[in-house]
Amino acid sequence: MIEFQSVSKQYSAEAVALRDVSLSVAKGELVYLAGPSGAGKSTLFKMIAAIERPTTGKVLVNGEDIGKLGKAAVPFLRRKLGLILQEQRLLTDRSVLANIMLPLLVTGAPKREAEQRARAALDKVGMLDRANAAPLELSGGEQQRVAIARAIVNRPQIILADEPTANLDRASADKVLDALRAFNAVGVTCMISTHDEQVLASASRVIHLDHGQLAGGAA
Ligand code: ADP
Ligand code: ADP
Repeated sequence: MIEFQSVSKQYSAEAVALRDVSLSVAKGELVYLAGPSGAGKSTLFKMIAAIERPTTGKVLVNGEDIGKLGKAAVPFLRRKLGLILQEQRLLTDRSVLANIMLPLLVTGAPKREAEQRARAALDKVGMLDRANAAPLELSGGEQQRVAIARAIVNRPQIILADEPTANLDRASADKVLDALRAFNAVGVTCMISTHDEQVLASASRVIHLDHGQLAGGAA
């Protein structure tokens, strides 16, 4: 479902983020991505979403070469992806519910249906009772669960979560991970980057990145 073929990414002469990375992730898999800060984890996710393009090599999603996608095709790719990236904060000027409805409204869903589906998505991450709250009233862990609801409301085939448990206490982190695992359990392919040793220790598959290079788990 996701394949990297000898992918390198160089942002500038000094900044090489990925070096000759080859890996594949099958449909329905749950894969953790481990590695220190600066290892290239965010870059790897951004290449799957065509936010960044490889300098050399190929990234395939469902067999389609992302590097060859025209501008018009990118929104269709992104609709297959539930993105929980570091820089995508919730909009603070509107309610939790309105944040979740937004991705549906921009793809043309009627308001009533958008609200219904947004509530269903919030329910799945255990946040339905905070639908009318403002994002800044929520704890970090609650905000992350809302971000997950926003990412999955369009029923993506793939979820990419970049350090979704960073800065969370154990209990909040576990709730966030449980929410992600529940979507994997119904067939959604998931890639989750984390530093969480406890999570990595019990993971069935971990891809290790270090200085942009694979250090295990790619096969
Ligand atoms: P991680 O997510 O594992 O912390 P990143 O993918 O964010 O790693 O970064 C990998 C390397 O690429 C780092 O050295 C970082 O400084 C560099 N980098 C990331 N984004 C950019 C960018 N937009 N411009 C230049 N260098 C970047
Ligand atoms: P609805 O059919 O009204 O959307 P569901 O209870 O079937 O209600 O699903 C609730 C929400 O879970 C969906 O709206 C969607 O946001 C989210 N979801 C995303 N991907 C999946 C999936 N593969 N299977 C089930 N639910 C998903």
